[in-house]
Amino acid sequence: MPSISTKHAPAVKNVICTHCEQPSEVARRAMSIFCPHCKKRLILEDFKITSYYAVREFFTCGDILVERKGHVVAPIKVGHLTVKGKVQGRVTARASVRICKKASFQGELETPVLLVENGAVLNAMVRIGTTAADCS
Ligand SMILES: [Zn+2]
Repeated sequence: MPSISTKHAPAVKNVICTHCEQPSEVARRAMSIFCPHCKKRLILEDFKITSYYAVREFFTCGDILVERKGHVVAPIKVGHLTVKGKVQGRVTARASVRICKKASFQGELETPVLLVENGAVLNAMVRIGTTAADCS
């Protein structure tokens, strides 16, 4: 398991803003905060998508699981992304992306770790191992 170094009390965690890439310290159980740097709302929750879901942007500091019947059409910024259904869009994952068997992904993918299971469909421009400092 990847872990963030814990100099601080366990009641808080460090997150990287999905808008401005600046780090913030947040209460571990907080669902959202306003970024102290760019003042935008920052979602911290984990999501599980079980149906069609199309949005203008799908940004979270947490994780996203797209279930077998889930179909996400959106630009995504996420920690861990697990796809069992379909995803279309530009994905930037801070931690990892896993495309499970029978899942499909179409679009652009940027992640430090990519796992593609046997039988998955991946039709994407992929960048693996980008550092957090390289943000456009
Ligand atoms: Zn910010």
